[in-house]
Amino acid sequence: MNPQDGYIQYIVNPKSGASSANRIAGQFKDYLVEKGYEVRLVLTESLEHACELATQGAVDYRCALVTAAGGDGTLREVLHGLEGSNKLFLPIPCGTENLLANELGFDLHVDTLVKAFEGNCIRPLDLGTVNGRCFTSIAGFGFDGSVIHRISAFRTGHISHLTYFWPIWRTFWEHPFPPIKVIADGKEIFNDRGLVFIGNTSRYAIGLSICKKADFGDGLLDVCIFRCPGQLSLLMHAAKTVFKAHIKSKKTIYTQAASIQVECADGPVFCQIDGDPGPAMPADIKVIPQAIRVLVPPGAKPAGIRTRLRRMIG
Ligand SMILES: [Mg+2]
Repeated sequence: MNPQDGYIQYIVNPKSGASSANRIAGQFKDYLVEKGYEVRLVLTESLEHACELATQGAVDYRCALVTAAGGDGTLREVLHGLEGSNKLFLPIPCGTENLLANELGFDLHVDTLVKAFEGNCIRPLDLGTVNGRCFTSIAGFGFDGSVIHRISAFRTGHISHLTYFWPIWRTFWEHPFPPIKVIADGKEIFNDRGLVFIGNTSRYAIGLSICKKADFGDGLLDVCIFRCPGQLSLLMHAAKTVFKAHIKSKKTIYTQAASIQVECADGPVFCQIDGDPGPAMPADIKVIPQAIRVLVPPGAKPAGIRTRLRRMIG
């Protein structure tokens, strides 16, 4: 890419992430300006606005690239706005988790962004939808959905990893583990007490590889279900997941599908998408194959739990 190809729609969520993460958005902009690119910096006022700004770039032939600096929520809405447009996208990770950017091989260094920009390595990215709402990384039903709903009740802006501690603790003791029914590509694969994860990416919070085999460009979603009647079982699943032994467990169901329905018969089941509250149940989940063209750092791999913990500690 060179400056004559067109301007760069530079979408920034001013509210997302820690100040250290936001620094790379400024550094990368300075790099582009220095290289002679026309950077059109636009600040988001809401998630809907992030989507609109992306669509503006997507439909404008003078726009060569859309970038978005923010967390997973911002990126999700921007990709929703870009879907189906064929416009090139570059993510700038500025959130707490950065599930998608992490999976694509980005970290919090501006050098990695520059490598991705200059490397011209383009990968197709699938998107998932739950009842028509997009997700980029993972949708969860049951325990983690309840945690996210608990947090959203008091969340006002940026959150840190510590924000999750009390909601996880409270949910751990109060969660009733209601039965959940899962239908994958027309076949019932589960109807019991458990936790259900539908992943477009392999990594979840803090680098846990729940949907371990997920490939974000294969046109399928990975389904990981933990049979889980109570707290002790949940702890066992968590430990196995940390040691990447969960897929082999007899209490885990792992498959891939293009269309999935998740239903609950008894008691409320909450859904989360990319760490934000998801739509109400029942949930109809679909994949949009190769919806986005995204620039990635050449040869980069997603960071696992050890790398993520190191980064978190600083
Ligand atoms: Mg896939």
